[in-house]
Amino acid sequence: MKAAPFAYARPSTVDEAVAELARSGGGGKVISGGQSLVPVLAMRLARPEVLVDINGIASLREIRRGDGFAEIGATVRQRAVERDAVSREVPLLGLALPWVGHRELRSRGTVCGSLAHADPAAELPAVACCLDARLTLTGPAGSRSVAARDFFAGAMMTELGPDEVLTAVRFPLAGKGDGYGFGEIARRHGDFALAGVAVHVREGRVALTGFGISDRPVTRTAGLDEITPDLLAEMVDTDGDVHASRDYRRRLFRVLAEREIAAATRKASA
Ligand SMILES: Cc1cc2nc3c(=O)[nH]c(=O)nc-3n(C[C@H](O)[C@H](O)[C@H](O)COP(=O)(O)OP(=O)(O)OC[C@H]3O[C@@H](n4cnc5c(N)ncnc54)[C@H](O)[C@@H]3O)c2cc1C
Repeated sequence: MKAAPFAYARPSTVDEAVAELARSGGGGKVISGGQSLVPVLAMRLARPEVLVDINGIASLREIRRGDGFAEIGATVRQRAVERDAVSREVPLLGLALPWVGHRELRSRGTVCGSLAHADPAAELPAVACCLDARLTLTGPAGSRSVAARDFFAGAMMTELGPDEVLTAVRFPLAGKGDGYGFGEIARRHGDFALAGVAVHVREGRVALTGFGISDRPVTRTAGLDEITPDLLAEMVDTDGDVHASRDYRRRLFRVLAEREIAAATRKASA
């Protein structure tokens, strides 16, 4: 099948991109890497009137460092992050990125595109929630900063308005004594996860985010000794599907969470 007809705009500034989206009255869609959107268009699961291609906007192509954070612009490719020092400065990114699809997809797909797409089984939304990353959303009224933990509103649903662009995501840099863990189970490497976990341990406390276990990433923060099998089971909020039942996902998630918390704790105390 082919995509339904659409108009194409390639703005050179964020203001122009926002104006294009606003002009379309809700009928526009941003395209960045196209790795999720193009298949959606080809299957006619979406029929946007105009595609707003943000790849011509120079200011969105940068990885910037600030005081204690790294900020990844909207068109920075996943593979570029993987190969940049930022994947060591934000170790969870370095641990998670090799799990995102395949290298060829990552050479086009963007970090921000994955966040905006909000697949419940995707790795990068979980990393953003685990690290309490902040997203910059820019629309006609200006920019606003939204915590990743508030951004995901359901499967493929986010806080992004129809005339807003996700312009950047800001991750905290690792501190001394931080430990991280990341793991997932998928049928084949590169498939979306049946269940997965991102872990950050600091000073005896853990931030734990599960993915593939609900309609959005699920985060809990607790003392290391407060992580119980009941808490892990309660995080898995799905009826199951053709790929895995709820009980099976609970079992996978518990094994992954316990293993990765142990790994992160070892790294934190090394
Ligand atoms: C075979 C295959 C396997 C894959 N496996 C995985 C996997 O294992 N894990 C995983 O996480 N992903 C996987 N993906 C998806 C891939 O990671 C995509 O790159 C990613 O989800 C979307 O990034 P993108 O830049 O390509 O976004 P696009 O495809 O360009 O856009 C995706 C959606 O986000 C919106 N959007 C994009 N950027 C912005 C922005 N800056 N502001 C506002 N809205 C925006 C678009 O309008 C669209 O709705 C897979 C894809 C394929 C085709």
